[in-house]
Order: sequence, then C-alpha cells, then structure tokens
Amino acid sequence: MSCVIQAYRFALDPGPALERVLRSHCGGQRRAFNWGMARVKANLDQRAAERTYGLGEAQLTPSVSWSAYGLRKDWNQAKDMVAPWWAENSKEAYSSGLANLATALGNWADSRKGTRKGRRLGFPRFKGKRSGLSCRFTTGAFGLADDRRHVTLPRIGLVRTHESTRKLARHVARGSARIRSATVSYRGGRWFVSFSVEITRADPAPARPGSVVGVDLGVRSLAVLSTGETIANPQHLEPALRQLRRLQRQAARRTGPDRRTRRVPSNRWRRTQDRVTRLHAAVANARRDGLHKLTTRLARTHGTVVIEDLNVSGMTRNRRLARQVAGVGMAELRRQIEYKARWAGVHVHVADRWYPSSKTCSGCGVVKTKLRLSDRVYRCEACGLVLDRDLNAARNLAALVHRQTSSPSCGATRNEPAGNPGKTRTARATGTATGRPAPGAGQRRRRKAPAA
Ligand SMILES: [Zn+2]
Repeated sequence: MSCVIQAYRFALDPGPALERVLRSHCGGQRRAFNWGMARVKANLDQRAAERTYGLGEAQLTPSVSWSAYGLRKDWNQAKDMVAPWWAENSKEAYSSGLANLATALGNWADSRKGTRKGRRLGFPRFKGKRSGLSCRFTTGAFGLADDRRHVTLPRIGLVRTHESTRKLARHVARGSARIRSATVSYRGGRWFVSFSVEITRADPAPARPGSVVGVDLGVRSLAVLSTGETIANPQHLEPALRQLRRLQRQAARRTGPDRRTRRVPSNRWRRTQDRVTRLHAAVANARRDGLHKLTTRLARTHGTVVIEDLNVSGMTRNRRLARQVAGVGMAELRRQIEYKARWAGVHVHVADRWYPSSKTCSGCGVVKTKLRLSDRVYRCEACGLVLDRDLNAARNLAALVHRQTSSPSCGATRNEPAGNPGKTRTARATGTATGRPAPGAGQRRRRKAPAA
C-alpha cells in the first residue's frame, strides 16, 4: 500500500455551448497571466531604469508582489478596469493564471540565482493566442458526477465525458482517493479534464522478484528484451503514419499562410491542418498506449529493470536519428517505468550514458571500436557470436545487474563488467511514497565504480 499523487485524465465531449464556456475560462486564465506579467515586467524595468539614474534602493519605486497571493490581491483590485467581463468566468480561471505566473517567475528567479537545477530559464513570456488552452480549478465544487459519465466543474457545471469515469469513481466512493484539483485543457483538437488525485494504491509485487530484464528500445520494433522477446510497434502506428504523410502532401498543395506576403490560408488548407493535428494526436496516443502496456508488464513481472540513459535531446539534434528516436518515445518509456517501478517496489537500474551497450559483445565482453547504425546484426570477431543488434544490447544491459554480487535487499550496487570504465547510475525505487516523492526516488545518485 502506498499513497501517491496520480493524475486521471478523461476526454470530454462538451457541446458547442459548453465549449464556448470552457474557451472563455481558458481565455480568462491567459488574460490574468498576461496582466500580471506586464505589471511585474513594467515594475522591474522601472526599478532598473531608476538604478541607472543613481537612486538608492530606498528611493526606488516599491516592487510589486510576485506571490500567487499578492498577485491575486492586486488582480481583484484591478479586475473591474482590466477585465470588466470577469464575472462571466469562475474566479478560479484568473487564480490559475496568476498561480502559473508566480511559479514561472519563481523558477526564473531561482534559475538566475543558481538555486534551480537544469538549463537556465529566461524571463517568462506572454501567452499568445496560439498557446495551449488550459485552466485549473483548485477550490469549489469539482469532481465526478454520480452517473459516471459527467464531471462537475465550478461555475461551468456538468460536462459529459467521452468515456466512463468508473475507475476513479470507485476509488472515490471507497474513500481510497481524494481529488485535489481539476485542470481543463485543449490538446490535439480535443478537450480533456485531468484530475490530480491523492490515492492509496495496492500494486502487486512483481511475479518474479529475482529476475532481471534489460530493455533496449528498438528502431524497427518498440523494444527488445534481454529475454529474447521482441515487442512489435503498436498496431495502429504504421497506418497512421502513412496517412499522416498523405495529409502533409495534401497540405503542401493547398494555399497555406505566408507571413511575408500576409497571405491568409485557404479554408481547404485549414481543414487539412485540422486533420493533421488530429492524426498527430492519434499517432501519439498509439505510441503511448504501446509503451504503457510494455511498462506495466515489465513492472508486474521482473524485480529489476535495466534501461539505458540515452541523451535524448542530443540524439534528436542528429537529424538522421531524430525521427526514429523521437518516434519510439524513449523519454516517455523512462518516465513510465520509473513511476510504475516505484509503485510496485521494482528496482530500475539506469545504465550510464557512456556505457557501450551496443558495442559490447554479450558473449565474451569484447568491446568493438566501431559499430554503424546500419549494422542490424552484431558479429563478434573474438568469439564468433552472431546476434541481433538490439538483443545483444538488451543482454548487456541485463548483465550490468547480473554481475553484481551484492544482495538486492539492501539496494547496494557495486561492480561493473570487467574492463569497463563506464559508471552506472542506480535508481532505487521504494514503494513507500507519502504523497510526496520518496527521498532519493526519482533522482538518481551517482555511484563510483570500484576498481575491478
Ligand atoms: Zn564475443
């Protein structure tokens, strides 16, 4: 049993009238965000200018508050002037825009001070008309309707869902789940509601706790396991990709927009674009579905899962690899396997980025200096092993854990394949989340490989 924060997302089927209301709320969110941004930006610019005149800190224009609370207070004073139509939407629409702004500004400030990990963030940007529509509700009456085919949203009322909400409704009825917030969004030509839920999960432990499996994400297939199993691409993927290419050719023949000549796109071009958007969403859904089925099965079966730490953003920059890598969704696989492993108490072992899983022979351990991407079969000159390239890589990944001598119960990992200087990172998945992520889980610790 573990208590975790999980999202439940349902597609919505609002009618035309309700869709207008949803759009209005998302627009209100954008208005509040942009209003707050303009205000903070003007204040910062003003103070920067005053400093160049040589004014002391005490004489500067006082700074405006960046906190969600402060922004909300100022908005409530200004809303009659800024947005006289504010009463049309739930106040939550404006609050969610201001809360997002407070987060964005906080992230920017932390990044500038160097207290935030990751790449440096720029100042938040204004939300244009093309930015994604979304709106979050954190207070008020939201939740599931009793008929399991509608959700309730504050001010908006009942909205029909595309599918049954049964899975979440049962948890709520049983008292094992509590809905914390609801976010409405428009993605890929469709409305969604996503509930953030605090839920007590009872995931079964893996069927074979002692078993180790290496997963190599394939280029031709979805994945290859070290057990020798090949997982094919999801069924709907190939036809959808073919159709996508057809639609893109069709769009190219029609009159699209041109910024330089200010040409407006034709209605036929727009129609094709709508279809392209929907198809993109269908392709992404097929892929995600395939990955979910794979990761669930892995976490239900094996006690340890070994995956590669691929430099995904680096690989997508290589144009010849880009489509294939982005296609199979390596980052998504990693995200899914890590949280499912945490729920089921499965270890996830992430091999170091520089570990040559493809170039090493899984039979004798000899590392090849060169292996072209077009070589689909691994041939070892030292021991004569001939094996599918992806299967060879998957076996090497599994071997990373097999060769370790420590007991799995303490979670300590030592050792590396002999003669391999690559370090290996370990993620210890614990099954005891307390609502917040368990300390250490989710973030990988770097361990030094002891000399062999
Ligand atoms: Zn060999």
